[in-house]
Amino acid sequence: MELYSGHINKLIEELASLPGIGEKSAQRLAFYIINMPTDRVERLSKTLVEARGNVRYCKECYTLTDRESCPICENPHRNHRLIMVVENPRDLAAYEKTGKYEGVYHVLHGCISPMLGIGPGDIRLKELMVRLEGDIEEVIIATNSSLEGETTAMYISKLVKPTGIKVTRIASGVPVGGDLENIDEVTLLRALEGRVEL
Ligand code: ZN
Repeated sequence: MELYSGHINKLIEELASLPGIGEKSAQRLAFYIINMPTDRVERLSKTLVEARGNVRYCKECYTLTDRESCPICENPHRNHRLIMVVENPRDLAAYEKTGKYEGVYHVLHGCISPMLGIGPGDIRLKELMVRLEGDIEEVIIATNSSLEGETTAMYISKLVKPTGIKVTRIASGVPVGGDLENIDEVTLLRALEGRVEL
């Protein structure tokens, strides 16, 4: 027997398919949405569609942005010869929040994980190598300190070294397995300042 109406079931199913949302949360959200004023529901669905339709990858660093290039890549006051490699836009945001990093970024959108079948070709590594053909002074590898993050860091360092560009790795003050986005700004800055050459 169906417990709820078909529409509610469908809504619960859609919500439950999102990461981090279990069956119970999905039910709670579904009933919340059903009770929201119609105009708010319309605004929410419009926002979802517009975000999906208009957000794209920056043509330089591959973070998510509304324009062809993100505001960081377009900023002439940033040091464009210094590239920090991060796993995802959330890690980029974590470093931006410190307000102390003056270089630009490169967002990989993942990391190498043999366990999950994610190889070097599945992340934005080729794009990084293209950027390194330009006038670059240093590549700072700021992938997470998880096994996958370390594997990715070693892989990148091997790729970059022959180019003669300086390659550094953020200090291991960052807790092992810790997501960069959950680490406080002081720790992030310390990790950045204490970076070591690979
Ligand atoms: Zn960018």
